[in-house]
Amino acid sequence: MMPERSREGSRRIFARACTLMPGGVNSPARAFGAVGGQPVVVDRGDGCYLWDVDGNRYIDYVASWGPLILGHRHPAVIAAIEEVLRHGTTFGAPTRWENELAELVVEAVPSIEQVRFVNSGTEASMSAIRLARGYTGRDKIVKFAGCYHGHVDALLVQAGSSATTLGAPSSPGVPEGCTRDTLLLPYNDSDALRQAFKQYGSQIAAVILEPIAGNMGVVPADREFLQAVRSLTAQYGSVLIFDEVITGFRVAYGGAQSLLGIQPDLTVLGKIVGGGLPVGAFGGRREIMSKLLPEGKVFQAGTLSGNPLAMAAGAATLRVLRDTNPYAALDRKTERLCAGLQAAAEEAGVEHVIQRVGSMFTLFFRSGPVRNYADALEANTDRFAAYFRGMLERGVYLPCSQFEANFVSTAHEDADIDATIEAARAVFAALP
Ligand SMILES: *Cc1c(COP(=O)(O)O)cnc(C)c1O
Repeated sequence: MMPERSREGSRRIFARACTLMPGGVNSPARAFGAVGGQPVVVDRGDGCYLWDVDGNRYIDYVASWGPLILGHRHPAVIAAIEEVLRHGTTFGAPTRWENELAELVVEAVPSIEQVRFVNSGTEASMSAIRLARGYTGRDKIVKFAGCYHGHVDALLVQAGSSATTLGAPSSPGVPEGCTRDTLLLPYNDSDALRQAFKQYGSQIAAVILEPIAGNMGVVPADREFLQAVRSLTAQYGSVLIFDEVITGFRVAYGGAQSLLGIQPDLTVLGKIVGGGLPVGAFGGRREIMSKLLPEGKVFQAGTLSGNPLAMAAGAATLRVLRDTNPYAALDRKTERLCAGLQAAAEEAGVEHVIQRVGSMFTLFFRSGPVRNYADALEANTDRFAAYFRGMLERGVYLPCSQFEANFVSTAHEDADIDATIEAARAVFAALP
């Protein structure tokens, strides 16, 4: 058994945080609500490791929820931020650093001819929806249960309903009016989509989806479903929006769309594109993007949008990814990790299925396959919580919910993967 780790510092700081901030956090998942126990208060990160304020070290598979594909404090990213710092922090005027990141994005992502930078994935999907509505002159949007697009009012509809329903908001504070034009459909269900288009086609401004879902755990879209999404939106003149906030630069340099060979009209980016600083982006066909103010009439703005430090961190990250092309190696490394976890779970007779695309994966505590939100919700979350706490106790920091993606970075070495599998073997054997 591992010695009991001291978490006194984390306990003290988090207790104070709870008096200062609701739940002690600035984003709810961090509070460990789904798994119980004491959140780890982080002191620093380096490569694939995190250290808490008590000096405990963890192998990190959260990667700040996706951005850190190069690990913590990658030298090229730190150097780029330091270089820009000598010029200032923000100007609210055009700078060359915006061009640098825009050029990299346009070059990388097949369907993006023009891009606009914002400060989060939420802002990016909110703006993309507004642009799609402005461009089409229509109001309705289609979203899929289990897909997350940030905390945009109109997209906070996810109830695990498998029927075609006009969306009911899933948070207090979102008026019904905000979601009246949101059609909620089950993921990977082409028939439901066909039905929705038959009924509302001429009123649908946009269909938004994660082409590989990461926010109900990893759930890839079927090829047949994606083809139906693409052909129906084209047929009815609706805008197809891929939310690639997680998958962009993660599953391939050009995102899921380059991996799957399907081109959306608009793409939403975040996480990796900011290299660990707050950046979101949306982009696509010039004809659509030109409707944005000041070229067009669709309003969208941001005091800190295109922030030089954030642009530099994103550009440095993308350059490393472009120049080193780590995707095959990431795939092999993650495959080895998943094979090890699977063998360990089988040994212990733990019912599970692992779903993986490249360096993102989820181990679901149910037998597979998981094709939609309803499937995901059948996972045994008590078992997940015990697994999570056991891994944390053994120095492995996993996302603190069953319905999240684990991320492997270029900084994870074979020894880290082996240590993770070893820890999992011990934890699975002791699961209730
Ligand atoms: C994280 C995420 C968002 C929201 O991005 P924020 O920067 O947290 O606002 C949107 N879409 C997807 C697919 C995400 O994973």
